[in-house]
Amino acid sequence: MEKIDCRSLLETELSELCAEKGLSKFRGRQIFQWVEQKGIRDWREMSNISQADREKISQFLSLRPADLIREQKSKDGTRKYLFGLADGERIETVLMGYEKDRSRDRQTICISTQVGCPVGCLFCATGMEGFKRNLTVGEITGQVLDVLRILRQENPGSKITNIVFMGMGEPLFNYKAVLKAISILNSKNGQNIGMRRMTVSTSGVVPKIIQLAQDNPQVGLAVSLHSSRDEVRDKLVPINKKYPLASLMAACRTYSQITKRRVTFEFALNNTNTNKSEAQGLVNLLKGMMAHVNLIPVNPVQGSGVHRPTREEMLMFKKILEEAEIAVSFREEKGLDIDAACGQLRQRLECERA
Ligand code: SF4
Repeated sequence: MEKIDCRSLLETELSELCAEKGLSKFRGRQIFQWVEQKGIRDWREMSNISQADREKISQFLSLRPADLIREQKSKDGTRKYLFGLADGERIETVLMGYEKDRSRDRQTICISTQVGCPVGCLFCATGMEGFKRNLTVGEITGQVLDVLRILRQENPGSKITNIVFMGMGEPLFNYKAVLKAISILNSKNGQNIGMRRMTVSTSGVVPKIIQLAQDNPQVGLAVSLHSSRDEVRDKLVPINKKYPLASLMAACRTYSQITKRRVTFEFALNNTNTNKSEAQGLVNLLKGMMAHVNLIPVNPVQGSGVHRPTREEMLMFKKILEEAEIAVSFREEKGLDIDAACGQLRQRLECERA
């Protein structure tokens, strides 16, 4: 009999399963707390459950935490983890602390949703490698649990406060698993991370943007825009050929109408898009919308052919948006010294192995 991955189950599902297997429903809650709140890696850690019940549980549930392959620490506090999964695939997770901003004491984790990615953005190390498979719900929630476990070994009071689904993969191509992972991470008896502290990032999967607004209007939406012109975006973010800017912006407006929330637009400034006509185009696209623009100087990725613009060009771009009264900020750069951009650490290790 194939065992069920415990990290993929909601508390209610665990309780039902326990009842089916002749255990009390309350055991389901206890297991959920041990797994999703305390992040155990071995059933023997469940100290308030009898050995006989632990043995029974281990016959129908599996607990397969990922292996930490490498950890990199940046001078700015950012940490990057490379995890090995049960089938030998590897994924990356990034933790960004905002120590300077002590008032909020924020620890944001950036998690992956797929092994590789089918979208193939021009400047992305993950996209260059193609798509392997979707992550399971347990592999998605597991990144939070395994990173927290590492942090708590150093500081038992450690907490993760915010989650961005912005690591390897297109989250909206693994929609069902991402939505379930959000519910598990939001659970009172799990990590209890507020829906509004979680953000799903997409390259622009139009039908799923609208579905997300209907299914979970609480969670935040970020769109990797990177250009205001179809002919440029077709190259930078190839999914644009399927869902061009007009349909993407219409979906974002619908999202805002349903959720009453603003959309964050990510714009990676590089040599192909940091000019006046792009900035003006962006102003036209966002006119009257509830929107915030994050400008990010593109991270140098080997072999991508795109590079950073000058500081003057970036400031000029920002000024045009500000003059049009569009909310805009430079996203704080994190972990430049440790391959923190999506897919870079994995790419580097593949090179080392080759
Ligand atoms: S940037 Fe995101 S959507 Fe684009 S290829 Fe990389 S992982 Fe995929």
